[in-house]
Amino acid sequence: MTYQELINQILQLQEEGVEFFNAGKSVLGKNILATHLGDYSGAQILIQAGIHAREYITSLLLVEQVRYLHNNDLVKNGGIYFIFLVNPDGAEIVLDGINSVDCEITRNYLIMANNNSQNFSQYKANINLVDLNTNFDADWGGGAQNVFCPNTENFVGFYPNSEREVQSLINFTLRTKPLLTISYHTKGNVIYYGFENESSENIARDQSIGETLSELTGYPLIFTENSTGGYKDWCIDTLKIPAYTIEVGDANLTHPLGVETLPEIFERNKDVPLVALDEAKKYAEEIDFTLPNVQKLTKEKNNESIKKGYITRLQSKLDRRSTNRRRHS
Ligand SMILES: [Zn+2]
Repeated sequence: MTYQELINQILQLQEEGVEFFNAGKSVLGKNILATHLGDYSGAQILIQAGIHAREYITSLLLVEQVRYLHNNDLVKNGGIYFIFLVNPDGAEIVLDGINSVDCEITRNYLIMANNNSQNFSQYKANINLVDLNTNFDADWGGGAQNVFCPNTENFVGFYPNSEREVQSLINFTLRTKPLLTISYHTKGNVIYYGFENESSENIARDQSIGETLSELTGYPLIFTENSTGGYKDWCIDTLKIPAYTIEVGDANLTHPLGVETLPEIFERNKDVPLVALDEAKKYAEEIDFTLPNVQKLTKEKNNESIKKGYITRLQSKLDRRSTNRRRHS
């Protein structure tokens, strides 16, 4: 499969009446494709895939989930956001090879980080050699496998939320206020829940929802340990909402998982979006989507202006951080 074929498979849904929008942009300016099914009022959940470059099979899983839900008109009372491919720049390197990178210096830099190999089939990072699922501001840099120098995997970035794909996902999440999120990864057939320092009430809530997802998929539910900086971690730590990482595909398979694995993966996951939305509704009273920081300071303002204010502030904070970084270098 080529990168263009992957994108075509996602966009194919348009011909079936699915409407797309952008959840943000990658470092190289590619659109991060998203869609929404159901109503914009009521409970919302968010499902994202393809944050690790070699795990693009998860993007195809979302295509199948959206096709199934849309063609059978199954999402009612509430809605589901799908973000198909959070790391398009990385997926392009895995699928089309290192020569798909236009800039020679970037190409050489990536090859050096890849142990001087031109085989990028195992690549996980974005174009900046940052592992996006370690870059979120949730005990950033505290994970057992984290590295602090550019790498094809596990590099946390030079500061939290440094990457454009991560900023896109954060801003999109703050705008859409999901009650629950699911992050699809490969591989291992397991579901991770919870995060360090999460309150015991929230852990109990997340475990209970997680057990329902576990029964549905047949994947065991595991409490997250020694892993930080992921999107799921940030959702739990900052927003205080239930969030799950689902690792699809047998642990014995080789990365990247081939399309022949998709039917089995889809079969086990096809009802995950609907069941997760139902669980979010069931637990809605116990889920208090918490906007970071500014909420407490600006109680008199309505939610819309708080959101806008936070997003603007977050952006200028990030801009300042990157300016400071440049001054130091
Ligand atoms: Zn992954």
